Amino acid sequence: MKTQADIVIVGGGLNGPPLALALAQAGLSVVVIDARPAPDRAERGFDGRAYSLALASRRLLGAIGVWERVADRVQPIARIRTGDGQVGFGASPFVLTFDQAEIEDGPMGFMLEDRFLYAAFRKAMEAEANITLLSGETVVAQRGGEVTLASGPRIAARLIVGCDGRGSGVAARAGIARRGHDYGQTALVTAIAHDRPHDGVAHQLFLPSGPLAILPLPGNMSSIVWSETRGLAEAIHALPDAEYLQALRPRFGDFLGEIRLAGARFTYPLSLSLAERFVAPRVALVGDAAHGVHPLAGQGLNLGLRDVAALAEVVIQAARRGEDIGATDVLERYQRWRRFDTTAMALGMDAMNRLFSNDNPALRLVRDLGLGAVNALPGLRRRFIRQAAGVAGDVPVLLDGRRP
Ligand SMILES: Cc1cc2nc3c(=O)[nH]c(=O)nc-3n(C[C@H](O)[C@H](O)[C@H](O)COP(=O)(O)OP(=O)(O)OC[C@H]3O[C@@H](n4cnc5c(N)ncnc54)[C@H](O)[C@@H]3O)c2cc1C
Repeated sequence: MKTQADIVIVGGGLNGPPLALALAQAGLSVVVIDARPAPDRAERGFDGRAYSLALASRRLLGAIGVWERVADRVQPIARIRTGDGQVGFGASPFVLTFDQAEIEDGPMGFMLEDRFLYAAFRKAMEAEANITLLSGETVVAQRGGEVTLASGPRIAARLIVGCDGRGSGVAARAGIARRGHDYGQTALVTAIAHDRPHDGVAHQLFLPSGPLAILPLPGNMSSIVWSETRGLAEAIHALPDAEYLQALRPRFGDFLGEIRLAGARFTYPLSLSLAERFVAPRVALVGDAAHGVHPLAGQGLNLGLRDVAALAEVVIQAARRGEDIGATDVLERYQRWRRFDTTAMALGMDAMNRLFSNDNPALRLVRDLGLGAVNALPGLRRRFIRQAAGVAGDVPVLLDGRRP
């Protein structure tokens, strides 16, 4: 085992692996440490978890050689329909629709099951000579550019990256505080099979107690992310499958025909958790370690992959110039690039959740008129689509499908 590397990445979930691949492909040595044991979710059957990947995320996966491993598993998202809803009534008539035909770049997003993405990351890392992958190992201490594993060994690096999720120990040990609040909501996550085809349409329905997303998977299947107030979510989760489906059905109507459960049922308590800084001396935070957001727009992983692209570009360029990649002025470039975007996105989703998660008739009218107005303005709608696809603004080259 190496005890010295250019970069140590703590966390081999969804953001650690693509960062490791991008850095290693540029010739940097990387150690990835993940607390989970090796096979874990990669070898399980379908468990109901899936992600929406924006167009820019797809380009990043292409640039690091992961897309070719998952391309035959994805479901392109042809259209997104967003609307207000009431239990028993389905969506209101003021539905906002985003269509892939409105951007020239291709489908605005793709759905991909967790198990395929995770397995593809693992295989790509195992094939990369510059990556040392330590599974089933936990980082328990860190000082300067050195981490200590629970099993004893210490690993020194010029940069330590925290990809260790919302409860980031890397952030805590670097003295980075977090801000946020509990939404008092829990997401019920599962997959359903249905009689009618989804035609590649993703639905985001805003119900009074929280948003419900119905996201297309290959075949006649959809992924469900259904947010409810915590008490109600726990009560629904405790129901047997048939009654769970009975509670779900009236929330989105019958446009998919008869529905059946097709995956395991999960719950996720929802909270906003933002790190006050994304960097400290020899430390950078990426993904949920930097910003845990509401899943309502399916943007959590996409935001993380934008961090991956920005940090990889900053670090690779600094290394090529002979700079110290863990130096504060180098890491500040990453923070300047990402902090505003992520904070704005997190607070935007926070505001949307507050505006939509209630049954106030006046607010219902305002938001329905708002959705109707955006729908009527193609220019504005196109701006939203480009934003959601991740192709707007100052985009790192990996998100454009090129290696830095
Ligand atoms: C209900 C729900 C639905 C979602 N749907 C979508 C979606 O459709 N699209 C989307 O883009 N995003 C979605 N997200 C968000 C997405 O799941 C997260 O943004 C993503 O998982 C974050 O990845 P990460 O790698 O930053 O952290 P994680 O996936 O949390 O991984 C952290 C890793 O760090 C490891 N770790 C932690 N501490 C240590 C330690 N001390 N030593 C070693 N290893 C450690 C853990 O074992 C873990 O593997 C959703 C989230 C939720 C809750």
